[in-house]
Amino acid sequence: MGTKIRIEFSKCYSQFAICYSPIYALCSMPLPDLRPTAAAAAPDEQIFEQTLRPKTLAEFVGQEKIKENLSIFLEAARRRKEPIEHVLLYGNPGLGKTTLAHVIAAEMRVPIKVTSGPALEKVGDLAAILSSLEPGEVLFVDEIHRLNRQIEEVLYPAMEDFALDLVVGKGPAARTLRLTLPRFTLIGATTRMSLLSSPLRDRFGVTYRLDYYEEKEILSILKRSAKLLGVAAGEIALQEIASRSRRTPRVANRLLKRVRDYAEVRHSGTITSEIAVQSLASLEVDRLGLDAVDRRLLTAIIERFRGGPVGLSALAAATAEEVDTIEEIYEPFLLRLGFLERTPRGRLATPRAYEHLGLKPPERPTLL
Ligand code: ADP
Repeated sequence: MGTKIRIEFSKCYSQFAICYSPIYALCSMPLPDLRPTAAAAAPDEQIFEQTLRPKTLAEFVGQEKIKENLSIFLEAARRRKEPIEHVLLYGNPGLGKTTLAHVIAAEMRVPIKVTSGPALEKVGDLAAILSSLEPGEVLFVDEIHRLNRQIEEVLYPAMEDFALDLVVGKGPAARTLRLTLPRFTLIGATTRMSLLSSPLRDRFGVTYRLDYYEEKEILSILKRSAKLLGVAAGEIALQEIASRSRRTPRVANRLLKRVRDYAEVRHSGTITSEIAVQSLASLEVDRLGLDAVDRRLLTAIIERFRGGPVGLSALAAATAEEVDTIEEIYEPFLLRLGFLERTPRGRLATPRAYEHLGLKPPERPTLL
């Protein structure tokens, strides 16, 4: 009787956890990054993103190796009439992990429930969701590296044996009750593979690493988005946006939206290449996709620390940015462009960074 009540309660709880997960997530996350080039989604972007999200593997642009591998994996599971194994997706924000999770569920013709590491605060939150899953259903856990240890431990038997171990009662009378769960597929997404514990990592059947896109792939994403949004935009204009998108679909779509606003307010609404260039300049996004904060960081290293090496905390103090923000948000792109180098003694601006900012690199290379 006691158990029954708990489970029914947990089912209501699951609705709550799923409906309100963005709120939970917001409470426990740092302030959103609202730059036009930020790779993480802004809180008000969800509807816009859903409109543009590809629904099938065929519509999903790029990541060819993953698509090829995934299509075999999905077809084999469909033939066996079995749910697919648990999937781990990792890669920087905005590269398509959430989209791919939805595509997988759609291709398997199964429903999907969405939650995230920070939204699952208590063991009960996860137990509620697990006990409400239907056979074959996909459970997508975004930011899975942010799950707490107790929740992870509930997840292990759920992933391995499709069982939910519930503790019933308190004190000496407490006992564990094992509930059988339907076979489901967990899809976890992470931007920080190194923060994932190895027992959790080992329980995924397959892992896919999403990479930055080719510029021509971003261009085709932009063409599709322009069509879906009913925006008139020339090929060269879209090319301008693609080249400044940090090879990230989310950034590309967001820049398209901002350029569309500019074209509608200042011009007739059609995005020409001149309008694209003007509006991107007004957003302070340069031809490589660097924005004002990226340039401020590089300028600080070059001018205040003579090119580096400089420790992250000194750099953070000099630019009034948070250490974590520099490390997680700005630095990966600057490293990828080859503008920064990470050395044991700190961050170093490369000659490329000097050239991009119109500065003369030092005569002799800085000694490490
Ligand atoms: P992540 O979960 O990795 O942060 P999302 O899956 O939310 O990224 O993708 C962000 C946006 O970029 C989505 O709204 C989607 O429209 C677009 N997008 C991502 N990947 C692709 C892709 N391969 N093809 C087309 N659009 C994509």
